[in-house]
Amino acid sequence: MRNSRWVAAVAALLAVAGCNRTPDKNNTTASPAAPITGAAGVDDARLVNADAEDGNWLTYGRTYNEQRFSPLAAISDSNVGQLGLTWFADLETARGQEATPIVVDGTLYVSTAWSMVKAFDAKTGRLLWSYDPKVAREILVKTCCDAVNRGVAVYKGKVYVGALDGRLIALDAATGAPVWTTQTFDPRLAHTITGAPRIVKGKVMIGAAGAEYNVRGFITAYDAETGKMVWRFYTIPGDPAKGFEQPALERASKTWMGQWWKLGGGGTVWDSITYDPELDLLYFGTGNGDPWNAEVRSPGGGDNLYTSSIVAVKPDTGEYVWHFQENPNDRWDFDSTQQIMIATLPVNGAPRKVILHAPKNGFFYMLDAKTGQFLSAKPFTAVTWATGIDPKTGRPREVPAAFWDKTGMPFVSVPGAGGAHSWQPMAFSPKTGLVYIPVNEAAFPYAAPDEPWKPSPIGFNTATDGGKVAMPADNAARRAALEATTGALVAWDPVAQKVAWKHQYKGPWNGGTLATAGNLVFQGTAAGTFNAYSADKGSLLWSAPVQTGIIAAPIAYSVDGEQYVAVMAGWGGVWDVATGVLADKSGPTRNVSRLLVFKLGGKGALPAARPVEKMPLDPPPVTGTPEQIAHGGNLFGRFCSVCHGDAAVGGSLNPDLRHSGAINSADSFRAVVLGGILKEHGMVSFAVALKDPDAEAIRHYLIKRANEDKALQEAGKKAPR
Ligand code: CA
Repeated sequence: MRNSRWVAAVAALLAVAGCNRTPDKNNTTASPAAPITGAAGVDDARLVNADAEDGNWLTYGRTYNEQRFSPLAAISDSNVGQLGLTWFADLETARGQEATPIVVDGTLYVSTAWSMVKAFDAKTGRLLWSYDPKVAREILVKTCCDAVNRGVAVYKGKVYVGALDGRLIALDAATGAPVWTTQTFDPRLAHTITGAPRIVKGKVMIGAAGAEYNVRGFITAYDAETGKMVWRFYTIPGDPAKGFEQPALERASKTWMGQWWKLGGGGTVWDSITYDPELDLLYFGTGNGDPWNAEVRSPGGGDNLYTSSIVAVKPDTGEYVWHFQENPNDRWDFDSTQQIMIATLPVNGAPRKVILHAPKNGFFYMLDAKTGQFLSAKPFTAVTWATGIDPKTGRPREVPAAFWDKTGMPFVSVPGAGGAHSWQPMAFSPKTGLVYIPVNEAAFPYAAPDEPWKPSPIGFNTATDGGKVAMPADNAARRAALEATTGALVAWDPVAQKVAWKHQYKGPWNGGTLATAGNLVFQGTAAGTFNAYSADKGSLLWSAPVQTGIIAAPIAYSVDGEQYVAVMAGWGGVWDVATGVLADKSGPTRNVSRLLVFKLGGKGALPAARPVEKMPLDPPPVTGTPEQIAHGGNLFGRFCSVCHGDAAVGGSLNPDLRHSGAINSADSFRAVVLGGILKEHGMVSFAVALKDPDAEAIRHYLIKRANEDKALQEAGKKAPR
């Protein structure tokens, strides 16, 4: 049973208060004691008791415990073959779609790329309203991983969204009109919001991203009615000379060296926020240390609390309760921001409320939810940076070569900065006892810069050398890298800490998962399919082509007693924009942004898809000097590759600069890179960091790269994009 004790306790309280709800009825029966239906009726009691409303999906992870399990069973392992599209909605934002929809009593609310919000009739697909916060596109320069948004929260008649530019916006759930807007950070800082807000006891909880751009992490609680700040918890200490906001930060300051606050320090809360009503604890995951290079960030070492950690605080005040750090003194961009799931499971023969966590670093952790005590951790995929986790302390046993910033030698790690598991949500089925993890199996190279490193006022600021480790223009090297890069759906037994079953994919960056009581697990793939597996055995039972990669997680809901499964489709995110030739591992990719909804016997069809077109490379001849090209390659690796792809091989969302007409002319290229003429499209001027000779060096590097890849293509070998 899922948290049956508090469900029963809350139900009893509600019954006493005369406001008990009938589970899974879109109840419109008029009577004096009838609860308010729809978004206006979503209050604390309904959020705490969300599991009882089996037709609804009231909060990001469906329930506060973030298990993403739907008790609906009308669609099951015996009839899922009859599943078909019933309605779909085209979205105007051709970017990665990462959101989980919310469904309340027949209305579906969802955010899209660029932080837009839409409401639909969940049965018919009729658009009820649409809201565009009109985020300025130039914010892309401080957005590592595409203009994505993972979802909204719904509470007492309002829909809440965190916009990419840091505005927390409350909309009228009936009309989509803004009710209040609060700017959550100084817009001059390099933060962004991509995560979904959560509502806890009348407060909206939201953090922000940015730990690749020299920022200090925090999570903030705002009054849901007014938008006024209630408390903020900074995840790392600031300048000690200015005092500490909490005693916990004074303690944390003893784990830092040097002048970390001048470089930001990191620990951003960019995704997971989980609440346990019984323990009254709010948990959140923190991101990597910033910059990545620990020798620069905290010279001489230190654990650098509370980066790469799970932190528990009191939701009323933000007061620290406990923490568990998964990567002390991180240097691999090992965010611990992945979904924090709560479950009651047998530990040493007795039921115990635990936290289940599968962070980027590749180990699956079980912690005591009340105290944070480490219980167990095992690798859920290949791991090369550590040999294991100390069973007593929970600290990783890193291999010496992994300390690339100390040794001065590049290190290729599995997993890497993309993470063995990223923000794509995992699901837990209490029926099978298994956790369904979307796993990435991919290496990543880390290298320290040769020269003393200085932060730049613009762009990626990780104190690494992206030029040194760019993918070589060599088909054998590329083939080896492509072969080693895969993905999988892993069904993990969290008690035994081992794989129960595994479905191998060609490539990584597949979608989040949904488990249902129909013995099903749903997952979209990077290869452009939406799949259903049997939850117990992992048999592929159903698969539908959807014309684009799916990275978001599906949901299940019901209206008028009929079950639906919905998922946001739309390839994108960091894997598309940053990984170069690896971006296409699952096949030629493109973005077709749509909300897709399925039901048994659904007869809908998508419009015919255009074929993916590959433009031939037609660059001018190489005229740059070797020194110029080498300098340009280093600058590209530092400033450009995070958006335009490793070794200048672009993904499907941002321009592939090998094909850019601007590389034909020094003046045109300068006008873009230094003059900022494409600012409205997100390409701002880099004049604060680059001079004329730098822009020209980057142009010559791009010409060289385009010629190299053209030669590979003409050699008749398997051509990279
Ligand atoms: Ca990060």
